Amino acid sequence: MTHQRIAIVGGGFSGISLLDHLVSNSEYDESLEIDIYDKRSMMGNGHAYQEDSMHLLLNIPTPDMAFGDKAPNFESWLQSNGYATDTYTSRSLFGRYLRSRLDHICASYKNIEVRYAMIEDLQYDSSTRCFALYSEGQKKVYTHVFLTVGQLEYSDPYNLKGITNYIFDPYPVTDNLPRSGEKAIGILGCGLSAIDCIRYLLLETDTQEVHAFSRSGEMPSVRGTYSEITLQFFTSERLHKLVHNDEISLLELKALFVRELAHQGVDWRLFFRRTGNTRQDLQYDLEHPEAVGKLQYLISAANPLFSDIFQYLSHSDKSEFLSKYHPLIEENHSPMPAPVAEGLVEWMDSGKLRIIENINNIDASDGFDVSTADGWQFNMDIIINATGPSVKVQKDDGGVIGSILEHFLASPDEFGGLLVDQNHHIISARTGTVREMFVLGALTYGSNYLSQSVHLLNRSAEKIVKQFYAQTK
Ligand SMILES: Cc1cc2nc3c(=O)[nH]c(=O)nc-3n(C[C@H](O)[C@H](O)[C@H](O)COP(=O)(O)OP(=O)(O)OC[C@H]3O[C@@H](n4cnc5c(N)ncnc54)[C@H](O)[C@@H]3O)c2cc1C
Repeated sequence: MTHQRIAIVGGGFSGISLLDHLVSNSEYDESLEIDIYDKRSMMGNGHAYQEDSMHLLLNIPTPDMAFGDKAPNFESWLQSNGYATDTYTSRSLFGRYLRSRLDHICASYKNIEVRYAMIEDLQYDSSTRCFALYSEGQKKVYTHVFLTVGQLEYSDPYNLKGITNYIFDPYPVTDNLPRSGEKAIGILGCGLSAIDCIRYLLLETDTQEVHAFSRSGEMPSVRGTYSEITLQFFTSERLHKLVHNDEISLLELKALFVRELAHQGVDWRLFFRRTGNTRQDLQYDLEHPEAVGKLQYLISAANPLFSDIFQYLSHSDKSEFLSKYHPLIEENHSPMPAPVAEGLVEWMDSGKLRIIENINNIDASDGFDVSTADGWQFNMDIIINATGPSVKVQKDDGGVIGSILEHFLASPDEFGGLLVDQNHHIISARTGTVREMFVLGALTYGSNYLSQSVHLLNRSAEKIVKQFYAQTK
């Protein structure tokens, strides 16, 4: 292999998973020079698994959280490091495990350089097919770039960023959230990040009451009982037979999925079980773990196939899928652990947690006046933004994303993230497909459907690395 210089931009799960596959591949040799970039607090763990409150839990049971298939797995690492192997462990512990895997990889291969710095600018020279990366006043040239910068900036639906007592990014909650319970605290959002904030405030601070505001008030579903699913109809083979002229019809995709649901004995009406009453919906899931679990594990089993086939949907089918079916799948895709749901129900019953839906405005002229469409108003001293990251890239995005859009090295995908081809190569409006630059993680939102869980990221990392070696042979 000719001498290749690789930059991995982002040291979260995606970045270190790529690194692991690069060095584990049979084609690997030490003529590769690999630099991995990130700030010190994120290197190895990324946002999701950074050091934070131990009450922020993984939403996947401990035995199923993995980083590749080499020993030690997460569970045995926990045991040998003296941690309890609870069904749901804290995300920070998974972060520590990932950092130990990164240390192990770096100690085993001398051609890997861990660079504790953020890339500020990234340019491409199509005549040399090389990239110039700029960081802390230094320029370095690479033959390949793996862009794994993770989630985009948080969305800010009420344009409150910069206002005193508006907490734009809640993580790490131990640093960013208030510890004193004297103030009226409102949380924007009802998703997994909101649940993190609620748990931290009510379990670790003297906060007595929390309001969670959102448009729908809906929370993720509750993880049901594990169900072993072997897909019979919604299989890769059958799906690929449905692809004609590089397209698959949503109607046929749906028919296959409905057939699978029937074959597995999953009642499709479970998709419509939500009543709009958050407490009642959580209780329903807690009381029907078998049925709900079967639906969730069927979605999990079909997820990699959905993710692969998503790029074959036509524009109108993709739009229809995202508006009509995605919300139903998403609700059941990343469920919260049952003990977390039980805690939320208890806090709702005791009045510590109030879920307020239908909010339509926040006036920040005197504290935060949160109004609902049905005329209610709530005055809060502090608002915590837990609406989650944005999926759309914009030219004014800070950092490396703004820079590659500015240089026309990348183009926004109207369905979210950046335009990439089926091999995760970036597509530039200026030079076409850039085969030396790969993207993995949240930035492929528009082309890889729901592919952010550790299993799917690891699977995509393996595919990207195979493609890289095939290209550089
Ligand atoms: C709160 C939360 C909880 C989650 N829980 C689970 C779970 O329990 N199970 C599960 O399977 N999945 C979970 N996920 C999904 C999660 O997104 C993935 O598992 C995974 O962590 C994503 O990794 P990533 O490397 O793509 O992104 P990130 O973890 O966001 O890492 C990207 C890294 O890139 C760095 N970076 C950004 N810009 C630059 C730059 N210019 N230069 C250098 N570095 C840069 C960032 O600092 C960051 O460390 C969770 C996600 C979140 C947000």
